[in-house]
This record gives sequence, structure tokens and C-alpha cells, in this order.
Amino acid sequence: MAVIAVGLGGNLGNPAHTFNLALDVLSQEPQWHLQKVSSFYKTPAFGPPQPDYLNACALFEVRPTPHMVLRALQAVENQFGRGREIHWGPRTLDLDLLFYDQWVLNTADLTLPHPFMAERGSVLVPLAEIIPHWLHPQKQQTVLELKNRLVLTGIELFQTQGHRQ
Ligand code: ADP
Ligand code: MG
Repeated sequence: MAVIAVGLGGNLGNPAHTFNLALDVLSQEPQWHLQKVSSFYKTPAFGPPQPDYLNACALFEVRPTPHMVLRALQAVENQFGRGREIHWGPRTLDLDLLFYDQWVLNTADLTLPHPFMAERGSVLVPLAEIIPHWLHPQKQQTVLELKNRLVLTGIELFQTQGHRQ
């Protein structure tokens, strides 16, 4: 079994509702076991002008390989009607594979750990809630240390521990 951290994001429709549905779907995947879900946070969007985002993180124990995990996440994104028209543009659901155990991987379609996670408060704030002491295998700092390096502006608690566990 591997432990994975998944980042959830969305700024169209009702992201809190979408997150709960997506977590239910992922929990029902064979060999996926939901361990923890963070609170949901409202975070400012970057990229083109667009509504604020909702962000959260979840921890699963899984048996599938990293690429199988990525395909499962993409299938769930598609199920919830995510569009990919604009780079970094608005979307109903973005599912990122943040960590797969301590794997470091650079392939055409999958980079591990997720390339931007160490710089994004929208990822590190919810992630620090569930795995503060997880070591980033390349940065050699914990999630909490990475979060504490950032100047966090505009991130607001939206809903404490949004998903039943
Ligand atoms: P972002 O999540 O940075 O806003 P996208 O979700 O649109 O951007 O990026 C999707 C692409 O990123 C996918 O085609 C996927 O193959 C690639 N990718 C590379 N590494 C990862 C990862 N760790 N998690 C999710 N997608 C990844
Ligand atoms: Mg993504």
C-alpha cells in the first residue's frame, strides 16, 4: 500500500458539494481507502481574473500505481464536468496528486511531488492540517515548514473538516 495526498480545487458551481461528491466517488474506487480530509478553505485565484477558489486536501491509502492514481483522478475530474479551455482558468474540479509516498518522478504526464505545491498556500494550508510532518522528498522540509515560509494572504477557513470521515 502507498499513502497519497490529493489536492482538491474548484471555483465554479458549488465546490464544497463537488468536493464531497468527489471524495465519495474516490473512496469507492477499488483499493482506495480514505484516511483524512482537511477543512475547506477559500483562496484567491491566480492566473486570469476569475472567482475565488475553494481548496482542500485528502489523504488515502491506495494500492494502484502513481499513473493509475492520476488516471482515476482525471476520470473523476471529467465526471464532474471540468473544462480545460483556459490554462489556469476557472474549473469545477481540479484534482492534483501532491505526494505518492516519497516518490520523485518526472514523466511527460506526471510529476511527483506535484510541481507547484511547495509554493502554494492554497495547497499547503489544508495539507498542513492533515500531514504537517510529512517530508517533501526534494525540498527536505516538512509541509509545515514549507507553509511557514510563505506569506499567506487572503486564505480563509470556509468549512471545518468538510467531509464526514
Ligand atoms: P493545474 O493543476 O496546475 O492547475 P492542470 O490540472 O490543468 O493544471 O494540469 C493538468 C496536467 O498536469 C495533466 O495533464 C497532468 O498530466 C499534469 N500533471 C503532472 N503532474 C501532475 C500531478 N502530480 N498531479 C496532477 N496532474 C499532474
Ligand atoms: Mg491539476
